[in-house]
Amino acid sequence: MSERRSPASAIEPEVVDEWSLRYERFDPAREGLREALCTLGNGYFATRGAAPEAVADSIHYPGTYVAGLYDRRQTRLAGRTVENESIVNLPNWLTVSFRIEGDPWFELEDVEILDYRQELNLRHAVLNRTLRVRDSVGRVTRVEQRRFVSMADPHAAGLETVLCAENWSGRLTVRSGLDGRVVNAGVTRYGQFDDHHLVDVRAQAVDHETVALGARTGQSGVWVAEAARTRITRAGRPANPERRVVEEPGIIAHELTLAVEALEPIAIEKIVTLFTSKDRSISEPLAEACSWSSRIGGFSELLHAHTRDWADLWKRFSLEVDDGGSLTRLAVHLNIFHLLQTTSRNTLDLDVGVPARGLHGEAYRGHIFWDELFIFPYLSLHLPELVRSLLLYRFRRLPEARWAARQAGFCGAMYPWQSGSNGREEAQVVHLNPLSGRSLPDASHLQRHINAAIAYNVWQYYQATGDIDFMANYGAEMIFEISRFWASIARYDPALDRYEILGVMGPDEYHEGYLGAVAPGLDNNTYTNVMAVWVLCRALELIDLLPEPRRSELCESLSLDDTELAHWEDVSRKMRLVFHGDGVISQFEGYEDLAELDWEAYRARYGDISRLDRILESENDTPNAYKASKQADVLMLFYLLSTDELRSIFERLGYAFEPDAIPRTIDYYLRRTSHGSTLSRVVHAWVLARSDRERSWAFFEDALRSDLDDTQGGTTAEGIHLGAMAGTLDLLQRCYLGIETRDDVLWFNPLLPTEVRSLTLDLRYRRRWMKLAVADGEFTVEVQDWGDGAARVGLGGKVIELHPGERRHLRL
Ligand code: BGC
Repeated sequence: MSERRSPASAIEPEVVDEWSLRYERFDPAREGLREALCTLGNGYFATRGAAPEAVADSIHYPGTYVAGLYDRRQTRLAGRTVENESIVNLPNWLTVSFRIEGDPWFELEDVEILDYRQELNLRHAVLNRTLRVRDSVGRVTRVEQRRFVSMADPHAAGLETVLCAENWSGRLTVRSGLDGRVVNAGVTRYGQFDDHHLVDVRAQAVDHETVALGARTGQSGVWVAEAARTRITRAGRPANPERRVVEEPGIIAHELTLAVEALEPIAIEKIVTLFTSKDRSISEPLAEACSWSSRIGGFSELLHAHTRDWADLWKRFSLEVDDGGSLTRLAVHLNIFHLLQTTSRNTLDLDVGVPARGLHGEAYRGHIFWDELFIFPYLSLHLPELVRSLLLYRFRRLPEARWAARQAGFCGAMYPWQSGSNGREEAQVVHLNPLSGRSLPDASHLQRHINAAIAYNVWQYYQATGDIDFMANYGAEMIFEISRFWASIARYDPALDRYEILGVMGPDEYHEGYLGAVAPGLDNNTYTNVMAVWVLCRALELIDLLPEPRRSELCESLSLDDTELAHWEDVSRKMRLVFHGDGVISQFEGYEDLAELDWEAYRARYGDISRLDRILESENDTPNAYKASKQADVLMLFYLLSTDELRSIFERLGYAFEPDAIPRTIDYYLRRTSHGSTLSRVVHAWVLARSDRERSWAFFEDALRSDLDDTQGGTTAEGIHLGAMAGTLDLLQRCYLGIETRDDVLWFNPLLPTEVRSLTLDLRYRRRWMKLAVADGEFTVEVQDWGDGAARVGLGGKVIELHPGERRHLRL
């Protein structure tokens, strides 16, 4: 089904088809956005949807990134040395161009474009591009390109180009190569930092159809190798062109020349293999890339395996929503697609987390944040083994987190706000405000709540899977060490008989500190304090849950004794929470005393005020002065915890839990939040899902299309917002279906927004596959007909056992 968007809409794509993203014009201003949205990847590596003939310039930015491949560079800036770790842009393997009779190489900007069409086929994960161009002497050439990054073979990608001379004949030269001159230049704001990561670029002509390029990352010393095999056929038969190897500094290519006749299509097939010295079961990356290049099948064969793997993935991640239009369905498919391109089965064996901006660009330098909190719950109910593997990324970095805690004067493990290769804190120390041109100190590393997110992810994974082995061997140690950190950062105030957490930042990045204070940081951020208590409670629960002898072993190896457990207990009962005079939960101590912002005046003056922080700073003001939040902060509590859980924490702490405190708190912050982070709308859609279904759906729709419509002020070109992408899928799944994985039961309590006519999805809970559907006021749950053993399902307040092949209905 496809429909055309209204001509008034400037939003892309112009034609809406629920399984494909289509563009029907070349639009230089939007090329960066399209490159990000048309990125192809397989969880091991990804390549932006850049034009094969393009090099990085003000319009195009070809980028290829391998999961977890980072490098550090130092830059002298304002009298000090700043070190940044970035995911590395690898040699551009797309490079394919052509020229006619020795004329200049084809470039889109030099010709008249007669037709242009780009289409990302989501079902098959293939990017198609068709163009007809007329050069300055009237020769018309048709170019059709297809490409994929193989889901079936994580080290392979293919690009096919079919050229057809429509009204000319003559000598055609095709250049197909590997370009190692690339740097990390995808984010203009980072322009002041050194961006040269590749050294020792070595080119090699392997045989008559293959060239290869190796390079090393300067600081991390990872070898990367790509081999490109190029074949040309005419009417399906080898075309035997003249071949020449061209080597320029940093580049190697084959130039293939042949005579073409009008209307006789020439097919150029480029197959690329990519390996790095981080790969397992290899000898050396260059040798591996070359030998696989000679063994691997042709374009059609590889494509077949690739689409078959995608067909399996789409079955596992089937999620169909009907709100009467195609755009929502397209956005849902697109979000699933990009999530699985960033992290998939091919990630299982890698030591990586999920970068906040995917493998789609260089924003945030490929770092891993708390955004996993928005991503894992969705994945856990489809591919839990993947979440297990992603959590191990954190487990392996426990020693670094312990060291960081010690350096800061705390106990246990303190994970970094931004994480890269070894789990060191990678948050930047200065950031550039593009509006004012000023570089400013950055205190975001004080977002210690990342530790609660990691513990929460471990616990959620356990709830979804019941994987006690994981918990016993890895998860518990993380939760205990994080608990230690919370218990040690919490300072006891005897006068109040309360513990307090001072000098931190909450999720709202507009507030870094108090006006006039010498050091950054805020006191008693409620989200942080409550989540610290939540983690301590889980740790105390875990002590009883762990099977012996593992419990004793762990307690002994961590020197965890009754005195320490009693301290955790004490902190979990006496943490301080701060409220406003009217009972609204305060974002942090002192928030109530900040000035009100004149939102209307700012909206009138600036239009889009989502980056209010930059606006205020450019006016020599600061958001620290105002009751204005970038994103959900206190409201995160209602996103992560059920009302019952929250009530029991409040009661445990001895604070009254007024029934109307939640709606009043939601309303209060709703009116004071600019949604400068895409995560914010996910949270707001969630917390309003039951009280204001219409508004919830509006937030959902905005969040769902954050990248499709590039709503965050043009930032998608620098990488997708994966937390919002996965968070919206999780909204459809867990929030609107009212799913909770609690006490070994999968609970359902569906309530769809009124706009949604039906919702169907498949999910996996504790080794069982289930089909869920809401339509015509009825909810249906069915356990797939294989395997044995029943699933425990909570429906209409009752727990029932559902056996394979059984189905239950619930009138809503
Ligand atoms: C948000 C953070 C988020 C980060 C990465 C920031 O803009 O404020 O909450 O973790 O982006 O997505």
